[in-house]
Amino acid sequence: MLHYDEPVYRPPSEGNSLIIQATLGCSHNRCTFCSMYKTKTFRTRTREEVFADIALAAKMQPSTSRVFLADGDALALPTDDLAAILDELATRFSSLERVSCYATPLDLNRKSPEDLNLLREKGLTLLYFGIESGSPDILARIRKGVNPDKLASALDRAHDAGIAVSATVILGLGGRRLWQQHIEGTAALVNRAPPDFLSTLQLRLGPDEAETFVSRFERDGTPFEPQDDLGILEEQHVLLTALNPPRPVVFRSNHASNCLPLAGTLPQDRAALVATIAAARAGAQVLRPEFVRGL
Ligand code: SF4
Repeated sequence: MLHYDEPVYRPPSEGNSLIIQATLGCSHNRCTFCSMYKTKTFRTRTREEVFADIALAAKMQPSTSRVFLADGDALALPTDDLAAILDELATRFSSLERVSCYATPLDLNRKSPEDLNLLREKGLTLLYFGIESGSPDILARIRKGVNPDKLASALDRAHDAGIAVSATVILGLGGRRLWQQHIEGTAALVNRAPPDFLSTLQLRLGPDEAETFVSRFERDGTPFEPQDDLGILEEQHVLLTALNPPRPVVFRSNHASNCLPLAGTLPQDRAALVATIAAARAGAQVLRPEFVRGL
């Protein structure tokens, strides 16, 4: 059995992947809506530690075809170390098809185009990336550590290197007071630097992060008033109406947090997606009940 330093998180689409912890925690760890790694101090694991896990996994699951490198942002590893891990995975798993990891915008902007090309050549072909919002004000309120220009530059770097990006946006981050600037900024960012895959989540604050989130949001006196499902659907409606990316983006809102599952490809399916949301807003479609949702 592989030993994991808990808690371990992975994207829903990596449910059947082998998980190897290349780093522990998140190198940023400051986003106010996120509690995932607040119990961990970020550190990179040594090559010896990671190689030992890979060797053990190769004995137990030799036919592994997909590997997800945890924790919060394995792209924070120095390029040499990450390249060595990718080489080791390719050596140990003859059926390997895909290696992926989470990446922060700060990580991507720190890597040179040569670094990213090298990592893609060695098998890192998919990054999971939190856009969260394209509004500079919302990004500052949630302490994402970047502005929209830095987000766009990070997305462009991955695209230029041929590494696919699966990105998330969190509906509800601006509450009822600031939702319009949240959505307008997000649509502008996605249209400017489209990821390959885009998902929307709904903001859900647990007791651990709610106080920090609200106090940071309200630091200029703007109250945070949470959106209800109808407000979230209005955000989704305005976002999808405004999305017109210059290359295809696979769109999903099928994460467990969403009140209305949606799936399509933008821009070609935009009208159908918008019509589905309009029907839900008019009450023609039952929303997912609250008790089956989670983030
Ligand atoms: S970068 Fe990601 S994992 Fe790290 S604190 Fe922000 S949302 Fe959480």
